Amino acid sequence: MQTLRGERGILLTCHIGKHEVPEVIVLSIPGEEAMGCVDCWRERGRWCDLHDMGHQGFVGGHSTCIGCIEEEVDRNERFGKQFLQEAREFLPADDVEELNNWLTGSSLVTGQAPSLCFIRLLATRAMLLKLSVRKEMQRLRETKTVLEIITPVF
Ligand SMILES: [Zn+2]
Ligand SMILES: [Zn+2]
Repeated sequence: MQTLRGERGILLTCHIGKHEVPEVIVLSIPGEEAMGCVDCWRERGRWCDLHDMGHQGFVGGHSTCIGCIEEEVDRNERFGKQFLQEAREFLPADDVEELNNWLTGSSLVTGQAPSLCFIRLLATRAMLLKLSVRKEMQRLRETKTVLEIITPVF
């Protein structure tokens, strides 16, 4: 998310509402206009009032608030090791390999434990589907595939 302000009172164009505004927010969401004012993003469901920030885009044009993801991560951090161990037991071998590769990469980038990265993976998917980490873990137990939740961030 990036905020652009017009200098010396010059107005900018909100590409969503096609009107002039003092400030536009740049969001990267597939299939959406990149620059819009807060009101227009809010109207499109791409703005989180709780964290006062624009959404992060994901594949398929889905989006959610990073602040909301991190809160859900904090709430579920303590289940990380248990959930990851369990997933490695019930997932097919190919999925476990994919998951381990993904967690290794994520762990390198964030500097956090793989179990915490796993909780963030579940939390991200959960927020996109408006579920919780516990519900997403339950869904994983039922579908027994992790491939659809390893989605790249735009
Ligand atoms: Zn607007
Ligand atoms: Zn939020």
